[in-house]
Amino acid sequence: MSLTKAEIVEQLIKILSEDQVVTDEEVLKRSSVDRFRRFEEIHGVFTGPFPAAVVYVESAAEAAEVLKFANKHGINVVPRTGQTATEGGLETAVENSIVLDGSRMNKIINIDTYNMQATCQCGTPLQLLEDRLRDLGYTTGHSPQSKPMAHLGGLVATRSIGQFSTLYGGIEDMVVGLEAVFPDGHIARIKNVPRRAAGPDIRHVIIGNEGALCFITEVTVKIYKYMPENNILFGYTLESMKTGFEILREVMVNGYRPSVTRLYDQEDAFYHFPHFSEGKCVLIFMTEGPKAISEASAAAIREIVARYPECKEVDSRYIETWFENLNWDASDVAQERAEILETKNIGNTTEISAGWDKIYDIYEACVERIRNEVPDMTLVGGHASHCYINGTNLYFVHYYNVVDCKPEEEITKYHLPIKKIIVEETLKAGGSMCHHHGVGKYRSPWIKEEHGSAYYILETLKKSFDPRGIMNKGTIFPG
Ligand SMILES: Cc1cc2nc3c(=O)[nH]c(=O)nc-3n(C[C@H](O)[C@H](O)[C@H](O)COP(=O)(O)OP(=O)(O)OC[C@H]3O[C@@H](n4cnc5c(N)ncnc54)[C@H](O)[C@@H]3O)c2cc1C
Repeated sequence: MSLTKAEIVEQLIKILSEDQVVTDEEVLKRSSVDRFRRFEEIHGVFTGPFPAAVVYVESAAEAAEVLKFANKHGINVVPRTGQTATEGGLETAVENSIVLDGSRMNKIINIDTYNMQATCQCGTPLQLLEDRLRDLGYTTGHSPQSKPMAHLGGLVATRSIGQFSTLYGGIEDMVVGLEAVFPDGHIARIKNVPRRAAGPDIRHVIIGNEGALCFITEVTVKIYKYMPENNILFGYTLESMKTGFEILREVMVNGYRPSVTRLYDQEDAFYHFPHFSEGKCVLIFMTEGPKAISEASAAAIREIVARYPECKEVDSRYIETWFENLNWDASDVAQERAEILETKNIGNTTEISAGWDKIYDIYEACVERIRNEVPDMTLVGGHASHCYINGTNLYFVHYYNVVDCKPEEEITKYHLPIKKIIVEETLKAGGSMCHHHGVGKYRSPWIKEEHGSAYYILETLKKSFDPRGIMNKGTIFPG
């Protein structure tokens, strides 16, 4: 028989301490959702299911005890750290879940500048690590827009990626070793080595698990020398996305590795650069690293762009101002909330990836379908921001006025239909429906289609590591 809420709370206090188990009604309500439902959350509407408690663990051993207890009694557990999730990964899909919060595990354990790696607990804000490293002349190279708020555990759990990814890669290219706790309480530590060929790379069972397989407690990432004095940032306006994709492809296939590659369509460009884009697309590059490499890369990219007469270089100060203000912190969140309440206009994003031969068709098909099929749209656009030798991502940006509906209807009237169109068109073209925000709970209905015959591997991981299905029900794996 399942435990009551009171019994769960009583046991959790016995395992941890009163101070670590929070049951305040308001906290529980706000801990039942994430940014996917922020229109409801901003309006104070919460429809549940609600968790029994939020527990703040302070060590891997404590996390193991909580997980063992939850596993024994079949209680759903939702791990979290920075709480910036956008895809419903933090929603408590089952009444009386335990929200397992790692934000008190926030120590930088070691910065090893000889072996060029840094080790942190899961609740360490990336900003904290990055600031400490930069003071010492180093960087992680990881710069997601949510850097001021996201923590190392969540960044690894979602397979996050940052603005300099074309040079440094995504988090999966940065993680050296890890520690994670599995539902049966087993604490697994993957040691820090430069590379090994000792069977499959087991880091990848943990990276991207979105709290659906295990709880990450410690992360070691690579570090790099920080040489901002060598950064070269430059940008252009141009007529079409098609040309922009061609240029990005040419840069990548010829072996150049700028840290920033960004191509905005007209609507998204106007949102970010109203002072100069004038109805055009915008293309941005940054090169960095040792002076000689940065300068040679910038010169070569400029040569490539020069072959496309529709590209007009813009004053680099415009780009620098944009770049300095790109990241989001708590004050941006507060301002956004106030604006949404006042205007009833809300924006969301959906990120996908595909090969160079498919990306433009996906872009066109999605934009056209959203404009035709979803009412009250005020912005339908997007940008490519992470390039690879074999393709790129697309970050669709969609804003709409919420008209004639209750806060709790916003998702079904607008957000889900938009997501569905983008996922359908991407999968139809052979791309991936998730580039970096994770599957969460709202793309899990398509997870089998995403992986095809390889879903067998993913499903077997879930059955093996979480046979009782207590880890973040509905996330990645359909509920
Ligand atoms: C304004 C804004 C900008 C963003 N920009 C970017 C961007 O540039 N690049 C990018 O990749 N993402 C971006 N995101 C998405 C989000 O910030 C990332 O997904 C980030 O990695 C989440 O980290 P977090 O610590 O906030 O995790 P949380 O929000 O706490 O959790 C995210 C997911 O990971 C799981 N999880 C959290 N901690 C653990 C743990 N210790 N063990 C196991 N599972 C865990 C949760 O259950 C959940 O499913 C952005 C979000 C916002 C709101």
